[in-house]
Amino acid sequence: MIESRVPCTGGCEFPVIYESTRGAAPRLGFADVTLAGLAADGGLYLPSEWPKLDAGTVRALRGLPYAELANRILARFTGDDLDPATLSRLTATAYGRFDHAAIAPLKQLDTGLYVMELFHGPTLAFKDFALQFLGHLFNHLLGERGRSCTIIGATSGDTGSAAIEAVRGLESVKLYMLHPRGKVSEVQRRQMTSVLDDNIHNLAVDGTFDDCQNLVKAMFNDTAFRERHSLSAVNSINWARIAAQVVYYFRAALELGAPDRPVNFAVPTGNFGNVLAGYIARAMGLPVNRLIIGSNRNDILTRFFESGRMEQQGVEPTLSPSMDIQISSNFERYLFELLGRDADRINALMDAFSRDGEFGVTEAELAAARKLFSAHRLDDAGTSAEIARVYRETSEIMDPHSVIGVAAARVHGEPGVPTVVLGTAHPAKFADAVEAACGVRVPLPESVAHIMTGEERVENVANDLAEIKALIDGGLGQG
Ligand SMILES: *Cc1c(COP(=O)(O)O)cnc(C)c1O
Repeated sequence: MIESRVPCTGGCEFPVIYESTRGAAPRLGFADVTLAGLAADGGLYLPSEWPKLDAGTVRALRGLPYAELANRILARFTGDDLDPATLSRLTATAYGRFDHAAIAPLKQLDTGLYVMELFHGPTLAFKDFALQFLGHLFNHLLGERGRSCTIIGATSGDTGSAAIEAVRGLESVKLYMLHPRGKVSEVQRRQMTSVLDDNIHNLAVDGTFDDCQNLVKAMFNDTAFRERHSLSAVNSINWARIAAQVVYYFRAALELGAPDRPVNFAVPTGNFGNVLAGYIARAMGLPVNRLIIGSNRNDILTRFFESGRMEQQGVEPTLSPSMDIQISSNFERYLFELLGRDADRINALMDAFSRDGEFGVTEAELAAARKLFSAHRLDDAGTSAEIARVYRETSEIMDPHSVIGVAAARVHGEPGVPTVVLGTAHPAKFADAVEAACGVRVPLPESVAHIMTGEERVENVANDLAEIKALIDGGLGQG
């Protein structure tokens, strides 16, 4: 167990070793885990032991500026792999692009009910917290090793811009983002195509989002191509993304009296990525009472916490598209913990899941999980009604993801313990759904409004693997 007996200013050296949930990949340090993404055995990396902060250490974090808080928390995960000056530089850069002085402002909605706004970053959604840090971290680690990489991704519109904003202008990273031409909203398109940096390449594919994903998969499956371009993904299973998200759980709880007062969190989630960071904050010593999950109609997580069974179903489009998922990829890390870090059982359950699309845990394990987690699902009609209700009662305009967290908090919050809903997107990002629900058109914040009139750069391509590979081989727009 790692205890902090000496006062720590974020520069202490904590040995941190990472292991894979499947038990067969090499144990690595923070830098290697970040660059690897997925472990070689197909598992997900996490620290062999959770760093522990005693109450005095947590109390000393009160009132720190966000980037400094991030330094103190992230130092517990980076071990010797980042010196304090480098870590400070990375967090200052990452959180320097937010358009609110508090970075993650906390607003009160009702007695004991708060929302933490995680949408003041460059793409107006919570993924900026992780990706702004990860982009600069990637660039630093690659630069240190004299390497570079090419990131290839597919987007249905929501997540592409966060990745683009994370790596724009970086020397060691090139990015190709595929989106289905004409099937993303104008704001979504412009959030991507208005980025004119030489290392950013937007490809508008004549096809669907599934076509884009299949093209990306095929490029990763081509070993020669993958190695020729050092292909990489900055997907949500990357450990450094989870680590960066732990910070705002600390921030919210500290603002509400941690370590002396417990707090609940209500988290709209699909991949389990966001709420996992809350579980980790608790494992580090933060007094988190309950973690409340909000899902839309794609409710694989809510069904798990009701039944103890993880069952894959088809994905239905909803008003909260960033939670329209079929597989909660980060759930594996929590499952590893729930099963007492038994990699053999993880392997068996994950095999069952890919073979049959389902697996289950025991009654006792479900009961243990439900001691901490609750879950609530809300369909589109409920989501619209909740947006209207919150607007009527508080004059706050919430986006269709965040508001599912509010609904979940109302059902599962406990009196006497404040609940913080994580606000994951700015309502202007989903302006049509918000306007339909409460009659108010939310304009884009000034910090991003310029994209609607500026220059765009995008390459139109056919749904043709060979053509796209040739284009990347040729170093489209090489700069
Ligand atoms: C990505 C996203 C989510 C879901 O995040 P998870 O990684 O599934 O926890 C929720 N809301 C918004 C706006 C998002 O962009």
